[in-house]
Amino acid sequence: MSDELTPRGSLTCRGCGSDGLVSVLDLGRQPLSNEMALTTTEPSPTFPLHLRVCPACGLGQIGEYVLPERIFGAEYPYLSSVSTSWLAHAGEYTRHMTEELGLTEGDLVMEVASNDGYLLTQMRDAGMRVLGIEPALQVAEIARSRGVDTVNEFFGLALAEKVAESHGRPRLIAANNVMAHVPDLQDFLAGLSHLCDDDTVVTVENPSFVTQMQETQFDTIYHEHFSYLSAHAVAAATRDVGLELTRVEKLTTHGGSNRYWLTRTGAREAHPSVAEVVAEELAAGLLTPELWEDFADRSRAVIRGLRTWLDERHAAGRTVAGYGAAAKGNTLMNAADVRADDLVLVVDGSEAKQGKFLPGSHVPVAAPSELAAAEPDDVLVLPWNIAPEISRLVAELTPGAACWIAVPEMREIG
Ligand code: ZN
Repeated sequence: MSDELTPRGSLTCRGCGSDGLVSVLDLGRQPLSNEMALTTTEPSPTFPLHLRVCPACGLGQIGEYVLPERIFGAEYPYLSSVSTSWLAHAGEYTRHMTEELGLTEGDLVMEVASNDGYLLTQMRDAGMRVLGIEPALQVAEIARSRGVDTVNEFFGLALAEKVAESHGRPRLIAANNVMAHVPDLQDFLAGLSHLCDDDTVVTVENPSFVTQMQETQFDTIYHEHFSYLSAHAVAAATRDVGLELTRVEKLTTHGGSNRYWLTRTGAREAHPSVAEVVAEELAAGLLTPELWEDFADRSRAVIRGLRTWLDERHAAGRTVAGYGAAAKGNTLMNAADVRADDLVLVVDGSEAKQGKFLPGSHVPVAAPSELAAAEPDDVLVLPWNIAPEISRLVAELTPGAACWIAVPEMREIG
């Protein structure tokens, strides 16, 4: 019997509404990536993790089994400001958008999923009025303590109506790395549309699904990522809410992202990048089973590769530690059936995760300062998107340990 909350992502496309989704990669039942265990024996509830693709628009998606409140509730542990490379990216975004839109002092900038204020503090320091929208209470409180006015609610059309009433319409709305997290994509997009006037630009940054497939980034599939986006799918999803995709910028963040500019239909002439990127996506095979099946085969090879590598380390008597208790690491490790005795510990800079255990594998999470005491021979870097930053930290903390990444294939990094 099916236990989905809605048919979105398993039967019907949450982007364009088509049915006939195609099964691409079934990762079985997995625990929620951010639901850390408090003890070594606390069982982790599991839910299906099954990627399907819409053959009409190319949106990759997974079904809905738990309410967003459970995934992004009060204790949601991800703090953007913990990553120095992410802070630097926010600084570049602030400069770039200020210049592109000619933002001037006092212009209103909103961010949906504003996290701990990592971006809006920089926008505020550049002279803008700012408003954050962040559903996770503890994270929202951190933003408020930094002086960022933050609404602590989930974003959708109902909240957009209230915010438009109280704050007016902004020049810029950042909705970066959030659209994938939204189960009801049409309500979310309707909310963005409601906040726009003809001068408003919404930017949506998200990993490119085409790149994710080409680079075998299957570990970005986890329960909080409901959608896997491309320019083609974004254009299809926004069509019915009065928004239009009018520019695409390519970014290097998260292993290869796009920044989609959404504006009110007819408000802005489309930049040539839209047609160019869509053509590239189609040429890469976004809408063809060949790319999907090849991606699934390579993903299964990565999973087997990690399992073999761990077994070999274990047989050789080597001590393996992990770095970065990121959600993507949990997908990889649970798919490879990693157990607590495979890794001595995983270290992570986020205090909210320290002292807990990874969901499923129950590997203990500790502060980076504890890495040296574990005397690892090998350190597996789980968030490969910030691997250079982490390998430098590992070299400082425990010189002599070898650093490895598992995606897109098992290899030692400098
Ligand atoms: Zn679709």
